[in-house]
Amino acid sequence: MFLPITAYGHPVLKKVAADITSDYPELQKLIADMWDTMYTAGGVGLAAPQVDRSIRLIVIDAAPYAEEDSRAAAFKKVLINAHIVEQSGEEWLFNEGCLSVPDIREDVARKSKIRIQYQDEKFNSYDEEYDGIIARVIQHEYDHIEGILFVERLHPLKKVMLKRRLTDIVKGNIKIPYKMKFVSVNKKR
Ligand code: ZN
Repeated sequence: MFLPITAYGHPVLKKVAADITSDYPELQKLIADMWDTMYTAGGVGLAAPQVDRSIRLIVIDAAPYAEEDSRAAAFKKVLINAHIVEQSGEEWLFNEGCLSVPDIREDVARKSKIRIQYQDEKFNSYDEEYDGIIARVIQHEYDHIEGILFVERLHPLKKVMLKRRLTDIVKGNIKIPYKMKFVSVNKKR
């Protein structure tokens, strides 16, 4: 089932999300719905705050980046209670977009390597290292559960230039092919 995606400006996107336990209500249904939502909207990753749940749950299918990095072809994972414990390596730029910030793509600088601890959908625990595109996708989704959007990582001048387009997203003045949840629409109509 497709879940409406929270748009830039929605307060849930600013919150640090909470860890969950395996008895979280209807967790497997939520995970299935998040896959549906991600694929329908054409994303490579989706974090629970983007479907209005402030919990540490992320789904990623990096297959669209298989051409850039062959390892991405097989990277399909559910990350629960993720915590990045180390980021290292040189910063590099990569063009990012976000389902919560439609029609805006910008180069974002991030470190090249991460070490992350997380659990899968069966609550098995992992402690792994990633680099390249896979690390990048995880870092973007991880930011969501830390209450950060990629546009907040841009140079302040760049953010000023995007202000009008960001305000349009907050107000719902955009055309998008999937259903979104805006913060201010209900008050106005
Ligand atoms: Zn995003």
